[in-house]
Amino acid sequence: QRVGFAIVGLGRLSLEQLLPAFAECKRARPVALVSGSPEKARLVAAQYGIPDQAVYDYAGFDRIAEDPRVQVVYVVLPNGLHREFVMRAAKAGKHVMCEKPMANNSAEARDMVAACDQAGVKLMVAYRCQYEPYNRETIQRVRSGDMGAARFIEATNTQVMGPGDQWRFSKALAGGGALPDIGLYCLNTARAITGEEPIEVFARIFNPEGDPRYREVEESVSFMLRFPSGTIANCTTSYGAHESKDLRVRLEKGWIDLENAFAYEGQQMQVAHRGGKAEIVERVRLPQQNQFALEIDHMASCVKENRMPRTPGQEGVQDHVLMEALYESARTMAPVSLKAVSGRDTTR
Ligand code: NAD
Repeated sequence: QRVGFAIVGLGRLSLEQLLPAFAECKRARPVALVSGSPEKARLVAAQYGIPDQAVYDYAGFDRIAEDPRVQVVYVVLPNGLHREFVMRAAKAGKHVMCEKPMANNSAEARDMVAACDQAGVKLMVAYRCQYEPYNRETIQRVRSGDMGAARFIEATNTQVMGPGDQWRFSKALAGGGALPDIGLYCLNTARAITGEEPIEVFARIFNPEGDPRYREVEESVSFMLRFPSGTIANCTTSYGAHESKDLRVRLEKGWIDLENAFAYEGQQMQVAHRGGKAEIVERVRLPQQNQFALEIDHMASCVKENRMPRTPGQEGVQDHVLMEALYESARTMAPVSLKAVSGRDTTR
């Protein structure tokens, strides 16, 4: 029996990626929808074979507690609404999957972890790249130690926002600009690759003058993370540069280039190392798999087997703590030091 998911919010990600991805899932299926638009919800429900009585509006969402088909609530709303709906889902006794960024800040994220702990439900943050095979291969190759120490990680995530992205320019709805929305992938991936927590961070923010979209949130951020073992991550994110989503790791004995690392598809991986006197550049090819289906199935497996997800709520808290340090650094134009604590529990 597949694990039943309720999708909260029928925006672009839900309609174009998540709902279609269920066709490629092996352990999960969509069984309920939550939307502010009844006509759209009914149409989508019909398309996915979801009965009308499993379509909820935001006000009536709490009735989901009485719907035994729903085991996981997947919150896919603007970031500023994540906290409310994760807390309501936990109160309804449902496991929760929450889109990234987890919340608007670390205080909200901690509330969400506490609410899920108290309700005895699982909480997973949808860091899809941690389920994407080429990203996993990169993490595994670096962590194996075969290529020596990782000196530099270079990560870029840029894209130009369109007319459908209005809420992304509101601090209340988005929490911030490019950093929490897309720069987060650079941050989260650098942590996943090293398996360490940064001990020092530095950031500069750049906004185009006079552009009303950047009154509340930032357009571009360049930031650096220093890890305890000496790895430096240099990261760039922007809402003002053409789509570019690449990852490079420079190690003692070679390098790994992953083009489209943070994209939905199209990852291309090259690995270089010495073979005797020759420089060998290997093109790595892995089977194509839908990363959204993989992450949804991961959550379904965790529910079935009572396991902690690979990217639990605490992972989201940690990224918010670090993003707050990055904002502080940009504000003070100085590096910010963090306590050297290993694992996911680093606190300032
Ligand atoms: P979107 O604007 O396309 O959809 C947002 C949905 O929320 C819409 O259906 C909208 O009607 C609804 N909504 C409810 N209350 C709203 C309000 N007060 N203001 C605006 N919309 C409201 O956004 P999206 O791109 O689908 O993003 C949704 C979430 O998914 C965000 O947290 C975003 O960061 C995340 N996301 C993740 C990925 C990924 O690759 N994992 C990609 C895109 C978006």
